[in-house]
Amino acid sequence: MSDFDGLKALVTGGASGIGRATAELLAARGARVAVLDLDPSSVDKPLLAFRADVTDDASVREAVAAAVAGLGGLDVLINNAGIGAQGTVEDNDDAEWHRVYDVNVVGMVRVSRAALPHLRESSHATIVNTCSIAATAGLPQRALYSATKGAVYSLTLAMAADHVREGIRVNCVNPGTVDTPWVGRLLDAAADPAAERAALEARQPTGRLVSADEVAGAVAYLASPLSGATTGTSLAVDGGMQGLRLRPV
Ligand code: NAD
Repeated sequence: MSDFDGLKALVTGGASGIGRATAELLAARGARVAVLDLDPSSVDKPLLAFRADVTDDASVREAVAAAVAGLGGLDVLINNAGIGAQGTVEDNDDAEWHRVYDVNVVGMVRVSRAALPHLRESSHATIVNTCSIAATAGLPQRALYSATKGAVYSLTLAMAADHVREGIRVNCVNPGTVDTPWVGRLLDAAADPAAERAALEARQPTGRLVSADEVAGAVAYLASPLSGATTGTSLAVDGGMQGLRLRPV
């Protein structure tokens, strides 16, 4: 998988967790990489960093244009920025539904819309969306989050269909429970974070959480020429959770 040489990639939400691991892996494999994030202050060279909020169309268009100019083109878009939400349909009001949907779904649409004219110029154009096993697993206490990821899954298939004849591939990864700062924040909010982590690990088929690097590996595969005939698919990176029909309750 060293064939990112000469390719230019943009990673949203690339300052933390899965996005950061992906940006660093693509760069290590030879890509020129730009990160688009709400707070890119921790992003170091050789990665290029651009501040933008995926809920703000003007800031997205400006950051994508600047990233493409800095990279000298665009071949790979990783739509990864996303936020979580807990609870049943009775726990989140309309404003919360709109807020999370705006980041997790419309955010990917905005970035894709800004990126597609540049991807059309590439002879190796791919988009990888960060979805989740929540899209199809029926997780309790995740109604809003699951609905946004269900939408990301449908969006992936629809975009794959719309752009296949233009040579643009569109796929998604479906991570399980990944050891990122996001999950760290959830655990830190528990009464006993160490006990909560041990219980979470015990519920994984593998007995451990997925690492951000392991998700990055799957994203890199889908973004690379190695998967040149693959479009409109999802790849689970969940330690067996989905295949074994288990639930990360
Ligand atoms: P994280 O919180 O560690 O990183 C998310 C990054 O996205 C941050 O750098 C944040 O600043 C950025 N971001 C958030 N809102 C943004 C906005 N409006 N505009 C621009 N950037 C924004 O989270 P993570 O765990 O690495 O999650 C990344 C993706 O993976 C998300 O789409 C999430 O839904 C998905 N995912 C995570 C897990 C998990 O267990 N961690 C599981 C399945 C899917």
